[in-house]
Amino acid sequence: MPTTNPYLELDQKIVGDIYTSTEPMALLTTLCDDFGSRFGGTEGASLAADLLEEKFASYGLANVHKDAYDYDGWYRGEAALEILSPVEREVPCISLPYCPAAEVEGDLVFVDEGIEKDFEKEKGRLAESIVISRSGGIHRMEKYDRAILYDANGFIFQNHYPGYGAVTGTVGWNHEAVIPGIGVSYETGEFLHRLSRQNGAVRVRIKTTDEYRPTTAWNIVGELRGKTHPDEVIIVGCHYDGHDITQGANDPLSGMVVVTEMARVLSAYAKDGLARTVRFIAWSNEEVGLFGAYHDAQGLGDNLAHVRFVWNLDSAGNPGGRKGIQLHRLPDFESFIENAAEEMGQDIAVGQGISCYSDHYPYFLRGLPTGSITTVGRPPGRGFGHTAFDTVDKTDVMSIREAAALGARLVIRQLNAESLPLELRDAEEVERLLKEDSGLEQHRLREAVYEKLGKENLRQYCDAVRK
Ligand SMILES: [Zn+2]
Repeated sequence: MPTTNPYLELDQKIVGDIYTSTEPMALLTTLCDDFGSRFGGTEGASLAADLLEEKFASYGLANVHKDAYDYDGWYRGEAALEILSPVEREVPCISLPYCPAAEVEGDLVFVDEGIEKDFEKEKGRLAESIVISRSGGIHRMEKYDRAILYDANGFIFQNHYPGYGAVTGTVGWNHEAVIPGIGVSYETGEFLHRLSRQNGAVRVRIKTTDEYRPTTAWNIVGELRGKTHPDEVIIVGCHYDGHDITQGANDPLSGMVVVTEMARVLSAYAKDGLARTVRFIAWSNEEVGLFGAYHDAQGLGDNLAHVRFVWNLDSAGNPGGRKGIQLHRLPDFESFIENAAEEMGQDIAVGQGISCYSDHYPYFLRGLPTGSITTVGRPPGRGFGHTAFDTVDKTDVMSIREAAALGARLVIRQLNAESLPLELRDAEEVERLLKEDSGLEQHRLREAVYEKLGKENLRQYCDAVRK
């Protein structure tokens, strides 16, 4: 017997509306073309916060507000990469966010993708060197933290994609970075490689002039209140800040406008029939260290059991594949998605895995069940992401619509399900995953960095390493 769909009428309204709506692309275009990167501390970030608040209110959400917090803002300065020998020349580079102002020198050591094996191979040459690693494979932070653990003086991050200029990405994550980190284009990195192959040792100097200033940022929050279990909450969020060198059209905005679309259609068609509460959040400052999500996760207080799930829809509308679901190590919840897929009469690919690198992580640390919408079949790696080329023209409205329709239909089912096979993890279980899960290597490397330097001594260390 075919499965009946108790939400058929609602699904038809929601899907029909989403697939004929021009709202998300109009919003995405304004956020990019009018407000720029929306990087923390810029005027665009403040204008974007205002506009998102206005949108949430215009969709009829309740309790719409900006949740402000202060943090240590990072402000880009001029950066220089000087080759000292065998030739004297300056090549283009940019500071990576949370790079300290510094001047360091060393011989270049190439560590390929920067996995442990690559560092081990060069072990004898790494002390006081300048490490250069290319993007791709593992996350930048793992390469950077290994450079610290192997006593390098500085870190160069080479884009592994030709033609996309320098690649960026934070090296600080919640505090000033330990050693200077800079980004260079594929072509600049290849030039340095050639120089090294032809001449042996290449000595370079990195000069950075970045600044830190106390800064205010805002998460934007709005809710649709549940009727029967208003105290049980599903959080649906995405960050709205991009890196300062880019429009961040796909990362994050292709996901941000999925969140606003979900808010719009759930409010329009389901507002009075929701059992649980759904809270929509536009997180700030993800790119530089998940500041907005940490602020919100901490603000949930001690009574966490009322938060039943957190959706992180970062970049959910990315082009390049079909939409699927990534559950962050929640095998018991898979059957819920499978049942929903049956009702909806479609396949939904479900994966299991967790990383430290986006806004679900602070909630995961508190034991909350989290998940995301992924793009299945998309080639690995960021492509033009985190470069100046993640622009409006690279977005795909059909991918955004697919993600919004999938997200809205799943969340309605989550909000109204009689019971949800989801539980808070206890601290021991979180600790076990932090110790063992292959996706959480960054946590273990960062712990090793703190152990090596002493977390409270980081600032003194930063001053010392700068000579
Ligand atoms: Zn992102």
